[in-house]
Amino acid sequence: MRVDLIEVSKTFTGEHEAAVGPMTLHIPSGQFVALVGPSGCGKSTLLRLIADQFPPTSGKVLLDGRPPREARRQKAIAWMAQQPALFPWATVLDNVRLPLRVNPGANRSSPDPETLLEMVGLSEYANASPQTLSGGQQQRVALARTLATGTRLWLMDEPFAALDELTRERLSEDLLRMWETFRPTVLWVTHNVPEAVRLAERVVVLSKRPGRVRADIPVVLPSPRDETMPEVANVVRHIRQVLRSTE
Ligand code: ADP
Ligand code: MG
Repeated sequence: MRVDLIEVSKTFTGEHEAAVGPMTLHIPSGQFVALVGPSGCGKSTLLRLIADQFPPTSGKVLLDGRPPREARRQKAIAWMAQQPALFPWATVLDNVRLPLRVNPGANRSSPDPETLLEMVGLSEYANASPQTLSGGQQQRVALARTLATGTRLWLMDEPFAALDELTRERLSEDLLRMWETFRPTVLWVTHNVPEAVRLAERVVVLSKRPGRVRADIPVVLPSPRDETMPEVANVVRHIRQVLRSTE
């Protein structure tokens, strides 16, 4: 799904200063974009605007050239946050299945829920209750659920921020593999610059509030990438410099 932001800004009711924008950003269908920027610069607000959780104060959001309301109504947008928000009363497998039950038309292209659980390495937990899983495992269930819906736009708001390093590495590998398989458009907010460069095709750096595009950096390096590769380290250094200059 293509995402176009045209001079988009958001000022919350009662506030004097905009939380984000005005900003213009064009994301072609299937691109994997990492969004980085200082805390409070409007990253979450931007994702919410794209998800049509509220309208922009000015400017326009277009998904495949149309107002985002349509995509929201069709449940074509997947959202992944720091807290996986699984249903505690359902089994792990049913958590992956549930979006399909609610919206059976959502997906025709994704593998079945059992296969997805296998892809994230959790087959043996299919009948377990989500509370019995670790944070990382729960987030993997959430990832499988996102995939089950077969959505073409994934908005990810620091999905792995609460996890330990090893787990987040494992999950970011999962995410990359899933993206390579299904090619959704991914907008992924992260504070982890090396991880952004390792995974994304493009890193957009926002200025401090109100967030605007400070730098738009294509990462044209072969995958898989490793932080110890000099080219990767160079891009990381460059992004950190830009980030520092936004403080
Ligand atoms: P980020 O995700 O980059 O940390 P946010 O998008 O959460 O930033 O917030 C951007 C700014 O907007 C912050 O200053 C925040 O306090 C403010 N803000 C966010 N949501 C609301 C809201 N519902 N009402 C008023 N201000 C808000
Ligand atoms: Mg945020």
